[in-house]
Amino acid sequence: MMKIQDLEVVLDADAGLVKAIDGLKLAIERGETFALVGESGCGKSMTALALMRLLPENGRVTGGQVHIGGVDVLDLPEAGMRAVRGGRLGMIFQEPATSLNPVMKVGDQIVEAIETHTALRGAAARAKAIDWLRRVGIPEPERRIDDYPFRMSGGQKQRVMIAMALATEPDFLIADEPTTALDVTIQAQILDLLKDLQREQRMGLLLITHDLAVVSGMAHRVALMYAGQIVEVAPAAEFFSRPQHPYAQALLRALPAGDRRGVALEAIPGTVPPLWLQFEGCRFAPRCAAAMPHCATTLPELVNTSDTHQVRCLLHKPGVPAAPERIVRPELPVPPPVPARETAPLLDVQDLKVRFPIRGGLLQRVTGHFDAVAGVSFQVARGETLALVGESGCGKTTTGKAIVQLLRRVAVTEGRAMLDGQNLFELDGPALLDARRKVQIIFQDPFASLNPRMRVADLLEEGLMALHPDLDAATRRARIERLTDQVGLRRDALERYPHEFSGGQRQRIAIARALAVQPRLIVCDEPTSALDVSVQAQILNLLRELQRELGVSYLFITHNIGVVEYIADRIAVMQAGRIEEQGDCADVLARPQRDYTKTLLAAVPRLVTA
Ligand code: SF4
Repeated sequence: MMKIQDLEVVLDADAGLVKAIDGLKLAIERGETFALVGESGCGKSMTALALMRLLPENGRVTGGQVHIGGVDVLDLPEAGMRAVRGGRLGMIFQEPATSLNPVMKVGDQIVEAIETHTALRGAAARAKAIDWLRRVGIPEPERRIDDYPFRMSGGQKQRVMIAMALATEPDFLIADEPTTALDVTIQAQILDLLKDLQREQRMGLLLITHDLAVVSGMAHRVALMYAGQIVEVAPAAEFFSRPQHPYAQALLRALPAGDRRGVALEAIPGTVPPLWLQFEGCRFAPRCAAAMPHCATTLPELVNTSDTHQVRCLLHKPGVPAAPERIVRPELPVPPPVPARETAPLLDVQDLKVRFPIRGGLLQRVTGHFDAVAGVSFQVARGETLALVGESGCGKTTTGKAIVQLLRRVAVTEGRAMLDGQNLFELDGPALLDARRKVQIIFQDPFASLNPRMRVADLLEEGLMALHPDLDAATRRARIERLTDQVGLRRDALERYPHEFSGGQRQRIAIARALAVQPRLIVCDEPTSALDVSVQAQILNLLRELQRELGVSYLFITHNIGVVEYIADRIAVMQAGRIEEQGDCADVLARPQRDYTKTLLAAVPRLVTA
């Protein structure tokens, strides 16, 4: 169905010519779901763009062929390619909101695709569009076909994208992170839908994602990319149970899960090398725990280790004496017994309500209120982690922000949040300043939360000066230097600016900034969801160690159940501004009592490695 042969793509960049894809080779059968996985920057999305000939302006294909149904699409003139794109070759992108035309009705957009790529016209094309909207699960498709995209939810817009991609009955579908922007329950529906439609249509499906759990439930075969090359190809079940490349093994061991509680996750040191380098040896060698001396000087080829399994690693080269078994899934260390937790609450939240004003009319007067949080009560003990989970819009971030006092000017907060015997919502003046010192927050996007014009030293000192005006300059500097050590940054980082760091390093700076004022509680709002698996492992390890050393408590807001299982002591499940269920983390996850918790947990994709 699709055959990619020695594909090479380069990008012109300031640093020189970047070889984004280097000799990619794979073949995908009719009716097969083939997953391309890897961390950010490994080349998987660039592969999708190259296949569709939609590379950015500074990119070009410098070699190879891409045959779809026997035609080399790289040889087609642009007019011929336009007929293939959206016709034989369907596409779904991560962000439906930006892929749909906001000023066109969704039906018109689907009809346009059908009329461009099939013989159907007018009423027949519209009937087909309605039929596809029904098949992808849009209720009342006869009416919704005339809606504009803004009237639809994120999940519905993604369904429209799928309807548009499939209405032309493509032979092959490329889905680039099709569910990454969606909540788990919608994600589960979309993935089921894709699976059913793909089976019905016998399409080839190239699924591009960083989410290994999604892959394990969807794909027949998997290819893992690293630094622009495929390093392992295998049937999905084999890839997850017996990965052969050291990078694949390390990635799977870096995933947080319940059985790893209490032990450090395996973090992969270092970062992906820049792709303008001329490589003389294995690209993964500087990060590989199994590297041998000749790995730095010998380029590994992709070799067959069985009829269906290929690996790019010198350990698997015929004649190399090293035994691969020595690095395959080592026994996990036994977690030390969990120390008895303090039960006295540090934070006691009772009947918290947060109401946002709704404004309307020319003068933007308040015309009503929206209850984002409708009466939640929970406690966080000293040194404890409480996970707050739920779908987007359920009020979990609003709860966190209310406790950190970030909503004072924009919303009405009712109820109590007692910290050390004081109600946070009633404080003012010096008492409020003191409370702000005790409760800090870390956001999902560390870049957006760090002032790009300030050096790291100034970022860390800013909070100290505001909340500890009593400290002199020498004491502040000493505390800042100790913090950089604690979060695993080098001292010279203090003189640099946020843009000079990677995502994981920036999150370390954000953690150091939160710790600078010696807080008792840190609200962690999705602190690892924008990070790659290997970097996520480093940040989770760091948070765990800091909790053990400093006794700090975390209110951990996340949608990642693997992270919850790994780090949380207790869990509170939120829906529509209320807490549906809360309790001991292992208990709630193993025996959920409420229907909503059961639905939420059932929708979470699980990695099956056994
Ligand atoms: Fe590690 Fe060497 Fe294999 Fe590269 S070739 S993955 S460095 S063992």
